[in-house]
Amino acid sequence: MDRTGSPILERHPSLYYPDGDIVLCAPRANGDVLAFRIDRVYLTRSSPVFRELLSLPSAGNMTEAFDGAPVLRLSDDAAELANLLELLYNTVTVSLQRLDPSSPLRAMGVLRLATKYAMDPLRKIIMHCIQADWPQTLQEWDYLQSSIAHARELKHVAAPTMLIDQGAESAGVPRGAYIDDSYPEPASAIRLAGEFGLPGVLPAAFYQLAITDPSADWDEYRDGSDAGAAWEHQCALANGGRTARWGMLERGDLMRFLRGRTKLDEWLSDVEDALTSFLGTAECVDAFHCERERGNCRRQFLLEGPGRTRPFDPLYATRHLLNVIPHYQLCGACARHIRSELLRVRQEIWDEIPTMFNLSMASSSSTS
Ligand SMILES: [Zn+2]
Repeated sequence: MDRTGSPILERHPSLYYPDGDIVLCAPRANGDVLAFRIDRVYLTRSSPVFRELLSLPSAGNMTEAFDGAPVLRLSDDAAELANLLELLYNTVTVSLQRLDPSSPLRAMGVLRLATKYAMDPLRKIIMHCIQADWPQTLQEWDYLQSSIAHARELKHVAAPTMLIDQGAESAGVPRGAYIDDSYPEPASAIRLAGEFGLPGVLPAAFYQLAITDPSADWDEYRDGSDAGAAWEHQCALANGGRTARWGMLERGDLMRFLRGRTKLDEWLSDVEDALTSFLGTAECVDAFHCERERGNCRRQFLLEGPGRTRPFDPLYATRHLLNVIPHYQLCGACARHIRSELLRVRQEIWDEIPTMFNLSMASSSSTS
């Protein structure tokens, strides 16, 4: 840490206001010290811990001065402190950044500090933002998936360089070069949810994890050190592939993932039943014809459709079937029956996610 005598002190490029009335010093990862010059009212209003610390001006480290302002030396990581101060100064704009896959990573450091300094309102805002990125209902899940599908279509017709410019973004294409850069990443969200007690993100995050290929690692796919692999990974990302930060999962969450993934496959027979079962369709006008059409639909689904994809994604599969059923020559009674069965099974799948993944949905004490 102490490489050449005293560590280098640097002023933060933006969080150093000349008219600020206090300088906070915090160590960087490399041992240097970063200085923030801010208004102490931001700290005292948001944190009872800082209020107490700063109410004793002569106490502790406050005897030192830098650029004419009193210095408070903190042991917190400078990067995490910078994120926290950024939020304190720009709460409104920061809280509006939705669906950013790196939000949980950034939020974790801030949440640790916000907890340490008892900044409850800030903590609540951050938790709310993280939770808002993850669907709480089947309807919200469908909405997110259709937005991803829409973004995929747009990206397929646009040249790669078009994707990151402002024009494309304002035309509805989300920020970032790839789909994977524009939608929430499940493993870091699960880790945050476990550490800070945010069970509401778990069902959708675990489902997303279960339909993600475990060999598709977030960092590996963005690491360009091996040229051959990098090309392959970039192609996968450019085609709308999704990744997860697999290394962030704790052992218990890994077990939940494995368990839930197997459970998802088991829905295949329920989905097939929804297509083929005549139970409850006494009013079918041409059972011979409808049975043949139902068989065609099932065959298509299993041989070429989402029925053959593993891991099986039953929510996508049933959504797909709801879209294709009208193209089969079924009698009205059968078409209505299959539709209502598919809708029933889908809702059942969504409702069963906490059980399938063995999730404890009780909010931990640390949320309050
Ligand atoms: Zn029929």
